[in-house]
Amino acid sequence: MPAREIRPRSPLPPSPAGRRRQNDSSDPAHHGLPVHEVVLLLETDAARGLGHDEVERRRVQFGTNELPRRHTGGIARKLGRQFNNPLVYVLLAAAVITAFLGEFLDSGVILAVVLVNTVIGFIQEVRAEAALDALHSLVRTHAAVMRDGERKQVPSEDLVPGDLVLLQAGDKVPADLRLVRLSALRVDESALTGESDPVSKDQVVLPQVTPVADRRNMLYSGTLVTAGSGAGIVVAIGGETELGEIHRLMGSVRPVATPLTLKLARFSTTLTVAILALAAVAFLAGLAHGEQPGQMFTAAVALAVGAIPEGLPAAVTVTLAIGVRRMARRRAVVRRLPVVETLGSTTVICSDKTGTFTENQMTVRALWTPSGRYDITGSGYGPDGHILASTAGGTAGGQEPGAAIRPKDRDAALYWSLLGGAACNDASIRPEGPGWLARGDPTEAAMLVAAGKGGARVRDFLAANPRQGELPFTSERQFMATLHASTPTRGEVTVFVKGAVERVLELCGHEMDSDGGNRPLRRHAVLTAAHALADTGLRVLATAMLRLPADGGTLSNIELHGRMTLTGLQAMHDPPRSAAAASVAACLRAGVGVKMITGDHVRTAVTVAAAVGLDAYHGSGSALTGAQLDAIPAGEFANAVERATVFARVSPEQKLRLIDALQSRGHVAAMTGDGVNDAPALRQANVGIAMGRTGTEVAKEAADIVLTDDDFATIEAAVEEGRNVFDNLTKFMVWTLPTNMAEGLVILVAILLGATLPILPTQILWINMTTAVALGLMLAFEPKEPGLMSRPPRAPGRPLLTLGLTVRILLVSALLVAGAWWLFEHEVATGAGVAQARTSAVNLFVAVEVFYLFSCRSLSRPAWRLRPFGNRWLILGVVVQAAGQLALTYTPLMNELFHTAPIGTDAWLRIFGLALLASLVVAVDKRFRRTGF
Ligand code: ATP
Repeated sequence: MPAREIRPRSPLPPSPAGRRRQNDSSDPAHHGLPVHEVVLLLETDAARGLGHDEVERRRVQFGTNELPRRHTGGIARKLGRQFNNPLVYVLLAAAVITAFLGEFLDSGVILAVVLVNTVIGFIQEVRAEAALDALHSLVRTHAAVMRDGERKQVPSEDLVPGDLVLLQAGDKVPADLRLVRLSALRVDESALTGESDPVSKDQVVLPQVTPVADRRNMLYSGTLVTAGSGAGIVVAIGGETELGEIHRLMGSVRPVATPLTLKLARFSTTLTVAILALAAVAFLAGLAHGEQPGQMFTAAVALAVGAIPEGLPAAVTVTLAIGVRRMARRRAVVRRLPVVETLGSTTVICSDKTGTFTENQMTVRALWTPSGRYDITGSGYGPDGHILASTAGGTAGGQEPGAAIRPKDRDAALYWSLLGGAACNDASIRPEGPGWLARGDPTEAAMLVAAGKGGARVRDFLAANPRQGELPFTSERQFMATLHASTPTRGEVTVFVKGAVERVLELCGHEMDSDGGNRPLRRHAVLTAAHALADTGLRVLATAMLRLPADGGTLSNIELHGRMTLTGLQAMHDPPRSAAAASVAACLRAGVGVKMITGDHVRTAVTVAAAVGLDAYHGSGSALTGAQLDAIPAGEFANAVERATVFARVSPEQKLRLIDALQSRGHVAAMTGDGVNDAPALRQANVGIAMGRTGTEVAKEAADIVLTDDDFATIEAAVEEGRNVFDNLTKFMVWTLPTNMAEGLVILVAILLGATLPILPTQILWINMTTAVALGLMLAFEPKEPGLMSRPPRAPGRPLLTLGLTVRILLVSALLVAGAWWLFEHEVATGAGVAQARTSAVNLFVAVEVFYLFSCRSLSRPAWRLRPFGNRWLILGVVVQAAGQLALTYTPLMNELFHTAPIGTDAWLRIFGLALLASLVVAVDKRFRRTGF
């Protein structure tokens, strides 16, 4: 179809979803129209796609291809949610009853606290949501489109109705499309229909009434291409797609919740109910003692308010959100929040080799043909370099080792190996800045570069023998083949194959000699040469070719088996990543096992494993091939898997079995993956990790975490951050619970003894609200402890608080109760007023909390061993809290509101003396009792 300037006569027709909303059933939907009518309707071109100007025009008209921002319930709903909390009910009831008792000031203070609490909760929720939302933009998807007849990669948001999108296995469908071409296309539509089996697509025109799940000629946004390829015209984008419709129906976002947050929320609720019951009993007991109902009510409220750990849920949310942000900064984007918890318990990481342990920057370094060995110079993807007769000896034609040669003149097999490797190839190289950039598979790019250095005339060959067919490379097939027909007579076809040595050898019956003739294959010699190359850590691919008279056959029906001629081996270097060895060592120190799972040859894998610090020896059981795995009896499988470190030539199905086996041994397993077929293993793994750069959309969709740099070091960083999240949560609990317990106990004892309350409900509210925000939350910013990665992983399901930490919480509570009680009685006895004595007690609580906060920065090391300014937020919090305490003690307004009164220097000395004493006891406890994590 010729290119034309497209000017829609009228606004483009609405999408099926849009139309449904308009209740206009007379307008035919795209699945009910033949392709040419869809093309006419959308004013596009099924071969060349849209023109650039037209794309711009349509973008203005239709907007970007993004789902509308999710409704998070609006500000009012979000604020409303903050009130839905047992503590708020208690406070509101307290405010109402206090007002009835005529204590309007107290009632006002309580209401103000509820309000402040609500605003803080709201801000935290909004910030946590924003942090998670921001992550989505880090993992952007791209789509291949035809525009002005040229294939282009564009961000998926840039698609407009009428765009012609090209898709292949592994892609995520970026908009709703009407298919115009396809080949063996299968799509996982579970995101839309819930049906998990992939469905086959075709192009038939369907009846208008066909339900979405049966529209075989359409592709829907958000679904995943699991096999084949196809092209389709965009019929709906953004909110107009079927996915957009579902999105709209679902309405609000999932709350920021994980198993841990849910568990803690449940814990808080149970605790609240128990405390309320206790408060009620205390109230009745007081009345039975003959106390005033008004006073008793105040005491019961103080008990409830003091003992409920209201800051806990917020602290969990904030700590998780900070952890997720830190991970994103270290290039691990969390897709599912609960994984942050799982990461801290990970016991084994199963990682790909290529691109994760290595750079995925391939350079062909050595060549082998049946007649000789050659070295190849140059680095990266630059074209500079020569082919030299190998210094390892055994070159054809007896060249001087190290002498530059021209393959064409010396060794025909070498020439055809280079040419075949470049013709059976989809990569491209282009100059960029000072260097060269490879597009496509780095393995193929390396072969393209090698062909250039060897003077292979690939362009001329392809001009005279254009590609007529191909079998694309897949991890299962392990080779790629292309078919080229000679022009103009088309009398002869050439088939090139390149791939894993064992696979290519299965196809070969001959090898090529240096004159281009065929001779019987010396399989053993080829394997020996390949092993020698692999033992040096090089990735080895074999090349082969077949020439046939043309008979119209296609690649799938030409019998290749045993008929091909081996031309040579190409061995490429892929440098280990610089940080890989240190990260592996860090994981091993942290008790996290590391296993390499690769599609590459076992010898190459073992050598690379050694380079990054993984012990594995070929033939020792510590390195197993896929074939060996299959031969292991079921009863011994899990054992063998647990022992081995390297798994080579492993298929995606075997990855799934590996994960199963590890989990059956109680492991919490992380697994990396990039291909379509890795999705089941990624889902099965406790932590599924997809490659952000090289991974398919299918893999990313199945993963819990996406690495934006594909680097193993990032996985280690994520584990570390996961552990830190747990540490910080534990620290918060160990810090906050003693205050709650002590406040509750002080009041309970006062009620039981019929004594004056040492602290009033509004004062307790002051302590809890201000210290939780100014002090406690700052623990979430605590940097990692040095020993973080030298401890064993946390056992899953283990409670946050060990026995040792629980004892510490009880100890600090006891110190607080005793200190506050003594101080209050002492002040009253030495002539201070009750208001002054209470002010001293309140200040004592806060002073102990501040001192104890520094102790809680580490659960095992003494406070003075920590870097004093390691957490600036904490220092800032202490300053703010101190200012607050001074205001509470000395300003008339606060004195009035909180029933406090100025106190003298001697009172402060007693406060600090007691706080210091408490800290010393905690320090001694830390020193002599192992609390563990
Ligand atoms: P990893 O699983 O660690 O990423 P890998 O990249 O070696 O390792 P695969 O991509 O499954 O794993 O490759 C398996 C084998 O297939 C390789 O060892 C190589 O011999 C061969 N191979 C890789 N890429 C190609 C390609 N583009 N064309 C032909 N053969 C290839």
